Amino acid sequence: MVACPCEVCASTDPRDKRLRSSILVQSSTTTIVVDTTPDFRYQMLRLGIRQLDAVIFTHPHKDHVAGLDDVRAYNFFQHRPMDLYANEMTQEAIIREFPYAFGDIKYPGIPDLRLNGIEKDPFRVGDITILPIQVWHLKMPVLGFRFGDFTYITDANRIEDIEKEKIRGSREIVLNALRHEKHVSHFSLTEAIEEVKELGVPRAWFTHISHQLGLHADINPTLPPGMQLSYDGLSLEIPAGN
Ligand SMILES: [Zn+2]
Ligand SMILES: [Zn+2]
Ligand SMILES: [Zn+2]
Repeated sequence: MVACPCEVCASTDPRDKRLRSSILVQSSTTTIVVDTTPDFRYQMLRLGIRQLDAVIFTHPHKDHVAGLDDVRAYNFFQHRPMDLYANEMTQEAIIREFPYAFGDIKYPGIPDLRLNGIEKDPFRVGDITILPIQVWHLKMPVLGFRFGDFTYITDANRIEDIEKEKIRGSREIVLNALRHEKHVSHFSLTEAIEEVKELGVPRAWFTHISHQLGLHADINPTLPPGMQLSYDGLSLEIPAGN
């Protein structure tokens, strides 16, 4: 956290250096990013990502959309609009927050964005099939996504049984766990652990971690078998599923 003197923010352990939550999903032909955080530009530079086929959005909170303007670099090199996949609420927020990209006059250099609506049905980007999973962030519906045997869910504090069924059978899950203390719109670490146990997913990685959770080196060893704190740069290889 900016300006925070706590031991996590002052830590020199790279696993305590967290940019905002996002993932890159890549097959041999297709590259997708889930959410364009305020750190999107640096995240793409850091990994040297030269190709990006689409961005899919979980929800319209600023820490998940604010970096969208920087997709214009991909417009420039790929000579095509960037495909965005989002539910109606998130599409409306994108249009409201980046109005210059949707105006009648297209100034040179502005991002070229193509909105695609998604709801609960599976959709495809290139050779990647994506199954949306709707979870709750207090009263806001948020989309999680399942890619084959891998599920990514962030900014949830409640998952309905019918959506849990879509997650079951995953071999790996990334799930949000903010801190130890209860929070109105995010799972706490204890709640996230309980969710993973109930879902029966054998390997879990916790994300969207606040500095209030403590040092990675202190907390990670205390987690149940198969569960770990994720960290920036973590890379998982997932067998191609459906
Ligand atoms: Zn701090
Ligand atoms: Zn949020
Ligand atoms: Zn968030």
